[in-house]
Amino acid sequence: MRAPLIAGNWKMNGSLELVATFAEELSRTALPGGVEVALMVPFPYLEVARSRLPETVGVGAQTLSDQPSGAFTGEVSGGMLADLGVQMVLVGHSERRTLYREDDAAVLARVRAALGVGLVPVLCLGETLEERDAERTEAVVLGQLEAVLDALTADERQRLVLAYEPVWAIGTGRTATPDQAQQVHAAIRARLASYDAQLAETTKVLYGGSMKPSNAVELLAQPDIDGGLIGGASLQVDDFLAICHSA
Ligand code: PGA
Repeated sequence: MRAPLIAGNWKMNGSLELVATFAEELSRTALPGGVEVALMVPFPYLEVARSRLPETVGVGAQTLSDQPSGAFTGEVSGGMLADLGVQMVLVGHSERRTLYREDDAAVLARVRAALGVGLVPVLCLGETLEERDAERTEAVVLGQLEAVLDALTADERQRLVLAYEPVWAIGTGRTATPDQAQQVHAAIRARLASYDAQLAETTKVLYGGSMKPSNAVELLAQPDIDGGLIGGASLQVDDFLAICHSA
């Protein structure tokens, strides 16, 4: 009942040429039925991505301001993204949490800003290696989740996509084993159920962290993994398509 979602996160990579390559390949190749596909591209490429990618491919941004407008030089509001036909936005990616010091309150403010303009927030959660070694994985991940869910209404909670991304697996080539990932996904789903059984059944929980064609099938076969958030492997159209076909 949860259609899998494969979302590419280009981070600060790509070019107009890469958008054109993806547009061409994704238009030419049949995407697998029943699988949702999206690309989260840098701000300057959103408009061209939206106009050139097939309509069936979602387009997302990688962050947004927590403010609707005003004197915030360099920021981009959710309303501006919605204007461009962008459908979703990453919030709380570990690189934002770490490099730009976005804490749980900042993440919540951005989730609210996204919901306020009808964007789907893709809320990223994940523990560092230190936290995993200290056996704090579930405490950290569920804490990040509750910091957002506790502040939302039941209706708002239904509109999120979640992504579990162990920080130690992002861009490192080191992937969580399917069992390790499934265990955390199951804990996330159980916590969703403590809010509302239907929320647990319908919320997509993606896995991210060095997902690639060679490990996607096994990860995506786990019962509580509903798709992938793909960084490095989303910059190669063949790899990205192979992952889409693994879902
Ligand atoms: P990766 O990145 O696939 O390169 O590990 C995933 C992410 O940061 O979303």
